Amino acid sequence: MATCEVCGNDYGMTFEVHAQGAVHVFDCFSCAIHRMAPVCEHCRVSIIGQGVEVEGQWFCGAHCAREEGKVGIVDKV
Ligand SMILES: [Zn+2]
Ligand SMILES: [Zn+2]
Repeated sequence: MATCEVCGNDYGMTFEVHAQGAVHVFDCFSCAIHRMAPVCEHCRVSIIGQGVEVEGQWFCGAHCAREEGKVGIVDKV
């Protein structure tokens, strides 16, 4: 049994996410996303997919990266 680190729910089916050497415990994916997902620097959406990292900033896609003046980013289609 473990407690979700986002909402504090004490739940039998919690799961761990190992990321960058740390271990996080969540009771559901929405809590995991809330805690783990980077936020697009342009439109503030939570980045659930791969996202785009440019110069240490995260964007949901190449469009938003370009809107923030980042050049040379192209979505792989
Ligand atoms: Zn939770
Ligand atoms: Zn965006």
